[in-house]
Amino acid sequence: MEKVLNRDFKKVRGYFSKINSLNPNSLPKSITILGAGISGLVAAYELKKLNYEVKILEASNRIGGRIWTYRFDDENITAYGELGAMRLPFNHEFTHYYINEMGLQSQLKKFVTIFKNNECFLDIKGKVCRLKDVINEIYPSYEFSKNRKFKSKYTERFASALKTIVDAMSPKEIRELFETDLHNYLLDELDYSLERCSIELNDEEFSPNNVLPLLSKLRGRCEDVLRTYMRHIILESSSDLYQLAGGMNQLPDAIANHLKDDIRLNAEVTGISLEDNKVKITINGNEQLYSDTVLCTIPFSVLREIKLDGFSKEKLDVIHNLTYVGATKVLFYCKDRFWEKDKYQIKEGASVSDRVIRQLYYPLASQDNSSFKQENPGVLLASYVIGEDSTYLAELSHHEQINLIKRSVSRFHPEIETEDMVQDVAVISWEKHKWTRGCSGVMWLGRSKYNVEAVTKPEKKLYFAGEHCSMDNAWIEGAITSALSQVEEIVQLQTRTILLEPSVV
Ligand SMILES: Cc1cc2nc3c(=O)[nH]c(=O)nc-3n(C[C@H](O)[C@H](O)[C@H](O)COP(=O)(O)OP(=O)(O)OC[C@H]3O[C@@H](n4cnc5c(N)ncnc54)[C@H](O)[C@@H]3O)c2cc1C
Repeated sequence: MEKVLNRDFKKVRGYFSKINSLNPNSLPKSITILGAGISGLVAAYELKKLNYEVKILEASNRIGGRIWTYRFDDENITAYGELGAMRLPFNHEFTHYYINEMGLQSQLKKFVTIFKNNECFLDIKGKVCRLKDVINEIYPSYEFSKNRKFKSKYTERFASALKTIVDAMSPKEIRELFETDLHNYLLDELDYSLERCSIELNDEEFSPNNVLPLLSKLRGRCEDVLRTYMRHIILESSSDLYQLAGGMNQLPDAIANHLKDDIRLNAEVTGISLEDNKVKITINGNEQLYSDTVLCTIPFSVLREIKLDGFSKEKLDVIHNLTYVGATKVLFYCKDRFWEKDKYQIKEGASVSDRVIRQLYYPLASQDNSSFKQENPGVLLASYVIGEDSTYLAELSHHEQINLIKRSVSRFHPEIETEDMVQDVAVISWEKHKWTRGCSGVMWLGRSKYNVEAVTKPEKKLYFAGEHCSMDNAWIEGAITSALSQVEEIVQLQTRTILLEPSVV
């Protein structure tokens, strides 16, 4: 923990000294920001410090966007689950900077992710076992050597571990691509490398967690789409992940506290018109507002449904064609933390399944001396799925969703089906959420290559930021860095304009 608490934020400090050097005057300027997700909030916070008058228009009745901590019981501080973002990689320096800046560093706790806790379960190919037994229980069912002979005695186990990782963490499209690449050439390459490896390996080396570094090595050989996706897998399964104990919404809430009078909730932008020197914004279908400069953080999946006038054809093409992937999360508010009791002894981590639930995450462990003990209620992230798996779940009725998920979880936790175990549920399919229409823009799917410059390029005085405007998309970090890079653009432009104008005496 020490290294995450005592970092020097060198990269961030470099950015801010550049911004401050760009703003030599303190004339008040104004800007309208569309969306109060993390990108809109960070942009507003920084521009306000630079003496801008900011106004944020937010369609929904809450701030935070895709950072959404759902609370089942306001009296119980541990009765929450994350419907959106939940983990923060160590190397996401800008995200950690804002956690520090908001005084939230004491809330940082390690996030135990997938394949890290040996007591967690796998339910794959009809077999259920603990992670510690995966090599004997599950790997043989992949039958990699059924129709081919390997030169190395290790190839089959390595390939099984890789397949377990990709199957557990990827949407259907990626699982299929990996399967094809594996059989076309990755298995041969693996076998060739292992045959030349002279060291003896013990069983432990083949656990999914230990095989993960191999995925980084193979990544370079995979085709483009798979390579880009594997970057996500490697980051998501890193050992160096953190969370905010008490809920991720503490970050956007703390930033919003500095912007109290500047945020207008329930203000849905229904039209954007680019006029000569102004941007005209229509709010809730009937109210009009003119602004010199506007920063739009509305996801393109929503923006394409809004009336847009005066935009170039190129920009409209990008807005309409950016591919988004869906994601569904299902939270179960359980009457007690049965997974921590003697029968299971699971403290944090994730169980995985090739059934409809895919990934199930256990919450921060109870501390014996704290107010949340094993006997107290706890929130399971009972299912987290993306891509086609999410589309499937999203189309079911609420009743069908819950029954299906309970049935899948009960394969390793039968008590989930007892009558009073699940006291409440919260479900979100982000592709159906009116203000997001997807989990994130995707670089590994879609009709055209993801061109982040084209996505971000401003249209007259309308700028764009948000996770979709970053190569770190689908992360808070991408949303923040895209916002900061637009702050820089805006300040730079304003400074240039002011320097060109005759000085007022
Ligand atoms: C299921 C899921 C899991 C994730 N897990 C992680 C994780 O573990 N770690 C991580 O770092 N990141 C994670 N992310 C990604 C992260 O949450 C996002 O990248 C980030 O929060 C996006 O911020 P943003 O400001 O770009 O967009 P948003 O948060 O979507 O903000 C856009 C805002 O615009 C508003 N809006 C939309 N339409 C209009 C309109 N017409 N008028 C006015 N306002 C409008 C929305 O209500 C919203 O508040 C996850 C995301 C999801 C969905």
